[in-house]
Amino acid sequence: DAPRCIVTIGEIVVEIMAETQGTGFLEPIALKGPYPSGAPAIFIDQVARLGVECGIVSAVGRDDFGALNIERLKRDGVDISAILSVDSYATGSAFVRYRPDGSRDFVYNIRQSACSQTGLHEAARGLLKRATHVHVMGSSLFSFPIIDAVTTAVHQVKAQGGTVSFDPNIRKEMLDIPDMRAALQLMLQECDIFLPSGPELLLFSSGVTHEEAIAEILDMGVSEIVLKQGSEGATCFSADKTLHSAPFAVEEIDPTGAGDCFGATYVTCRLLGKEREESLRYACASGARAVSFFGPMEGTSDFASLDRFIASQTTGEKA
Ligand code: ATP
Ligand code: MG
Repeated sequence: DAPRCIVTIGEIVVEIMAETQGTGFLEPIALKGPYPSGAPAIFIDQVARLGVECGIVSAVGRDDFGALNIERLKRDGVDISAILSVDSYATGSAFVRYRPDGSRDFVYNIRQSACSQTGLHEAARGLLKRATHVHVMGSSLFSFPIIDAVTTAVHQVKAQGGTVSFDPNIRKEMLDIPDMRAALQLMLQECDIFLPSGPELLLFSSGVTHEEAIAEILDMGVSEIVLKQGSEGATCFSADKTLHSAPFAVEEIDPTGAGDCFGATYVTCRLLGKEREESLRYACASGARAVSFFGPMEGTSDFASLDRFIASQTTGEKA
């Protein structure tokens, strides 16, 4: 078997979660955390749980929030050599509260945190040399130096014969960042696997309908568009066929991280040589398991758990 190594670049943060539903953080409320988090971190932890070699280029502070993240990623098998620990910044954080309608409010400390120090330092360059695939989260493209580092990494991995996946992962709190929109468009042009969720599909093309957007994006050279549809499952579009995977029935405890686990599982399965249909099934199982755990990274799965979960769902038994 050819060696595979999946790399991502981007934010590692702790997540601190409101225990009650409501709008924002304008009065004292009960909070739970810190939990290891950050979309690229959740993604790469899920890859590691599936047993494929992987690493993350990132930066944390020399504080407990950084240590907690590094410990978790290391325990699960992620190569942590390209995570820089910096002295003069604290580890990034995200406070999150769910509104009654299921949408979320965030207070981020990412751009001004240790995350801002993410770059292609020596250890990062070493990791990228081994990479056969690079995954980009749109949420990571929050400053010009980071956009520059991600772009360089994407071009390098492609020049090495590798592939690229891209999840826009847009948060309303981030859209006003200068340069971000152009960078998102560039990632779409460079990627092989595009992983938008619901409304993100229409943000990236001149197409007005889903069909027009899909045709336009496939024409750009993207080979697979995998649309995440939350509790409705997911659909994979490619030039030759469209596949839909129905959702698994689970009780949604905490939706954060579902998209990241889904994407990581889809990409890993494809790189392991599995067909689209089986990859989509595994990815839906991974997303469904993720929402049934409280905490963004607490619901990552290995193949044995996914197989048990899929079998239990098909036969109607409890996982
Ligand atoms: P986020 O960025 O908030 O992590 P996302 O929008 O990127 O999420 P979702 O569509 O919410 O991603 O979830 C990814 C996949 O996980 C879905 O396509 C689906 O297969 C699975 N999933 C998510 N929520 C549920 C649910 N309530 N029940 C069953 N499966 C779910
Ligand atoms: Mg997402």
